[in-house]
Amino acid sequence: MYNVIEPAFLIDDLPGVGPKTKERLNSIQIFNANDVVFKIPNSYMSHIPVNLNLVEIEETITAQGTVKTEPSVTYMRRGMNRLVFFMEANDIYLKVTFFNQPYLRDKIKVNQTVKVHGKFNKLKQEMSGKKLILGSKEDMEIRYALNKAMHNRTFKNLVSETFKHAQFKYDIPTELREKYHLMPISDALYLLHFPQSFKDVSRARRTLKFYELFMYQVKIMEKRRAERVRDANSIVPYDIDKLKAFIQTLPFELTNDQKTSVNSICRDLLSEYSMHRLLQGDVGSGKTIVAGICVYAAKTARVQSALMVPTEVLANQHFESLSETFSGELNLALLTGSTTKKEKCEILNQLKNGNMDLIIGTHALIEDDVVFKNLGFIITDEQHRFGVNQREKLNEKARHKNVLYMTATPIPRTLSITTFGDMDVSIIKTMPAGRKSIETTWRRSNELSEVMSFIRSEHNRGHSIYVVAPLIEESETLDLITVNEIYELFLREFGSEEVVLVHGKMKNDEKVKAMDTFETLKKRILVSTTVIEVGINVPNATVMVIFNAERFGLSTLHQLRGRVGRSDKQSYCILISDPKTEQAAERMNIMTETTDGFILSERDLEMRGPGDFFGVRQSGLPEFKAADLAEDYKMLEIARDEAIQLFKR
Ligand code: ADP
Ligand code: MG
Repeated sequence: MYNVIEPAFLIDDLPGVGPKTKERLNSIQIFNANDVVFKIPNSYMSHIPVNLNLVEIEETITAQGTVKTEPSVTYMRRGMNRLVFFMEANDIYLKVTFFNQPYLRDKIKVNQTVKVHGKFNKLKQEMSGKKLILGSKEDMEIRYALNKAMHNRTFKNLVSETFKHAQFKYDIPTELREKYHLMPISDALYLLHFPQSFKDVSRARRTLKFYELFMYQVKIMEKRRAERVRDANSIVPYDIDKLKAFIQTLPFELTNDQKTSVNSICRDLLSEYSMHRLLQGDVGSGKTIVAGICVYAAKTARVQSALMVPTEVLANQHFESLSETFSGELNLALLTGSTTKKEKCEILNQLKNGNMDLIIGTHALIEDDVVFKNLGFIITDEQHRFGVNQREKLNEKARHKNVLYMTATPIPRTLSITTFGDMDVSIIKTMPAGRKSIETTWRRSNELSEVMSFIRSEHNRGHSIYVVAPLIEESETLDLITVNEIYELFLREFGSEEVVLVHGKMKNDEKVKAMDTFETLKKRILVSTTVIEVGINVPNATVMVIFNAERFGLSTLHQLRGRVGRSDKQSYCILISDPKTEQAAERMNIMTETTDGFILSERDLEMRGPGDFFGVRQSGLPEFKAADLAEDYKMLEIARDEAIQLFKR
């Protein structure tokens, strides 16, 4: 990822690196000079001597003192040997032992000042030495994560050789270095390998962080420029009058954010540059409607659209909700793994002859036999769940590469800058009018009877209730109530005519059937372990009960809560949890304090770190050596602004 040295000579060009060493280095992904200098130590220890009188009983520390006796080496069994000498430190006369380091004998001289790092036992006045430090130099000890490929010391020599031979060619632009008080990247890297103090390390890290973030942004800008090619084929010349007339027929007024989003997307459609836009908004904020309107726009130009979603349930739900609003205006169909052969054949025909305006489906859409007459607008929902390859494959089918990515996971700004920095972003922040904010409460499991009576009262008012239960069959641990226990509990309270169970191990058609009884309000209490069905939409539901809520991160809890509050009725989210950690308790508190998905996602990122945020490797998050996306967001924003400036010039 990084190139600062040019020519980036190979490691075997360094003195002393033969085929064996080369192989070992390759095994830890080190191939050339750049890899060496960017192999940043993973820990630093200082050898600042401590006052032995202050050591409690036994501690690993560094002592500084005067050698009092000649070292003597005793050979023990099986190649073991022991070197012993006495030294005086802080008025304590102590015995120092080094195991298997007989070569130290020649270095230790009586009356010399030395530092010994090791385990000090105060009662016995003994020290088991690990490292001997002569004079005042090398106060910092560094360690590399070398995975046993070679000794720390050997690698350090290699780093030293590399710096001797390297010519540093790339750096942060001088004016930025001056503006932000950074050092040349070569100095920063050198200090990280050969620091004199912790201060060196932190100064150098700051420069490296900036370098990483800035270079990454520059890369993104380059990608953006390369992708956004001018191509008359990207133009979708829709009929604005028809579009306006159509929007008038909608049963509601679009929110301002929806209008702005429609405008931006339509502007992209008309533009000769291809669209790469991310549409973000909480569940229920009206993204699907926005996408549908733009599909209608494309249709007026006889351009086809495709909507790809990660799960079949989500595909069904999108199909139903879009059919409801657009059935008279758009010819649309659903294509998933469950589509029958006959239906599929018909759909494929209509896609090929151009009759079909919109196809909604899972990755079934990327199969080779799906051929479009004139695909020009691609929408992917919950896009970070698709691998890059899947996305590209659908994009390849398009004549006009206009892609809209939709996500209901509010992505913290820092992550959206890094992962989606090459896209334009539209955000729907305000919910459609009339929505009441969801009241969230946190209850302990011993308050279950209160919770049940609350549920009963909402049920009596004709509302539907979601109950999320942990997926386990029997109590593997004592802390979790099993899904079956919860199901039984609700059966006893409400009877089997009112309660339906959906769990992750059910077959797909059973699941769909069970969901259906809940969606059509035949049964109004859904006990479920499957929380992934982001698409489910039952506006009649007013209560979301989550058992063992501490199992989930903030983003997931927020997603779950988004199932309710989809009508003008007041809705509630009840978290049942006896958290064991402070962090988990804090999550419960945060949930009761805010319903703003963006605030929650920032907090989630802070608490869990970027690696866990998406939960999937394919998120495409870069791996930084020094920068931390949760911590360094201010620097990230600066780096981004500077990269944009650079590209403007
Ligand atoms: P999302 O895709 O963001 O989850 P949807 O587009 O599915 O949201 O909208 C959720 C619900 O809100 C749908 O029933 C939709 O018809 C309705 N809706 C969308 N926009 C508005 C609006 N501006 N005013 C009232 N209701 C709306
Ligand atoms: Mg949606």
